[in-house]
Amino acid sequence: MNFEPVIGFEVHVEPTTQSKMFCRCSAQYFGAPPNTITCPICLGLPGALPVPNRVGIEACVKLGIALGCQINERSLFERKHYFYPDLPKGFQISQYKSPFCTNGVLKLNKKSIRVNRVHMEEDTAKLLHQGTETLIDFNRSGVPLIEVVSDPDLRSPDETKEALVKLQQIIRYLNVSFADMEKGTMRCEVNISVRKAGTNVLPPYRVEIKNLNSFRAVEDSIRYEINRQSKALSAGESLNQETRGWDEHKKVTVIQRSKEEAHDYRYFPEPDIPPVLLSKDEIKSIRKSIPELPDDARARFIEQYKLTDADANLLTETKDMADFFDEAATLAPDQIRAVSVWMSGEVRRRLNEKNLTLVSTKLAPAALVELVTFVNDKTITPATAKELLPEMMESGIMPQKLVEQHGVSVVRDTGQLDEVVRKVVEQNAKAVADYKAGKTQALSFLLGQIQRELKGQGDTGRIKKILLQILTHLA
Ligand code: ZN
Ligand code: MN
Repeated sequence: MNFEPVIGFEVHVEPTTQSKMFCRCSAQYFGAPPNTITCPICLGLPGALPVPNRVGIEACVKLGIALGCQINERSLFERKHYFYPDLPKGFQISQYKSPFCTNGVLKLNKKSIRVNRVHMEEDTAKLLHQGTETLIDFNRSGVPLIEVVSDPDLRSPDETKEALVKLQQIIRYLNVSFADMEKGTMRCEVNISVRKAGTNVLPPYRVEIKNLNSFRAVEDSIRYEINRQSKALSAGESLNQETRGWDEHKKVTVIQRSKEEAHDYRYFPEPDIPPVLLSKDEIKSIRKSIPELPDDARARFIEQYKLTDADANLLTETKDMADFFDEAATLAPDQIRAVSVWMSGEVRRRLNEKNLTLVSTKLAPAALVELVTFVNDKTITPATAKELLPEMMESGIMPQKLVEQHGVSVVRDTGQLDEVVRKVVEQNAKAVADYKAGKTQALSFLLGQIQRELKGQGDTGRIKKILLQILTHLA
């Protein structure tokens, strides 16, 4: 029997706020000694009163607007109850019935998927398992989290990855979070069930997968579950609502909890926080703060700069990259094509190689434009430009200066070129004879020798012309 998966996601991202969601403790807990960033509120001590963080709420609303959500003017924080050692209050302050944002859409390459809600909540403490003991670090307790929940509109592991990458890209464009899966500022969970291919009803169960620390883990775990669930249904078994964890080493999912429904959490409005009211003007001003998003930037690059789809995709991958290109294109409108080739090729390759972002290097748009111009007017060879690029990225020194420092400009003096070519011809009588005897590879050898004398700074076209002239005039 043929089965198709029905997949949705829940993504948690940590917005970059200075303080935690409901107290004044710093939200920058990464690397801090355990339990040094706490107060009665985030430790859940009796009587402590939470006050919502405005910046956190704005980040949530910003993401909601970017995803085309309806922004609710009246929202509620609610208590989500469950017992676990990382949750000192016995409940998490979250949102349930009236979240900040509802009914959005995430546009993928070939389809759009529905975003059910974008809401705000608080993070839990962190458990550290050491041998038979478990330690608790409350530094993360109460740190803001934005949760994005999709409808089950995804139909394959690839599509799910595409959706999560796109969501991450939008979050980073908005600059509301680093959305880094390795550091835990973006955490993905997926829910998956399977149904007979060709049917349209939602399956009567769904399996949630947790512990997904990379896009790779997302894809692998979905593949594993499609296989496991399809086999079970084919064998006549029935599947239940359950939560499973992904075991990265064994590449399997393992059951964690079964049969958990929303009513198990006994949600009710947080009595210590009044409803949050957002005026139309406040929503409007948040909307105004949203920059051009990747889809719009890509469309504009194709239209304005006549880039190919592929180049426009690469150059709008990050906002850094897009801003850089815009600036370079403004500086050198006649070099747009060359700049795009360098950026989507060599620059991107260097960044990926060292796992860097463009802004973390010292490369300025003006410097890249100068480099591209030097190649274009043959002041330096493309090979030299490639060698200068890493130094420019590291030091921020302009190409003009580097060309002078390293003495790497192309030898333009015809007299000097002539002299070097003659010398090489004289010193390599055998190669010359071979060439005359019809062995064409002897020509490449001679060209190589000449470039060696010129330390690679000769314009190959001109050298070849001079060499051929000299060879034909040799008796
Ligand atoms: Zn605190
Ligand atoms: Mn959550």
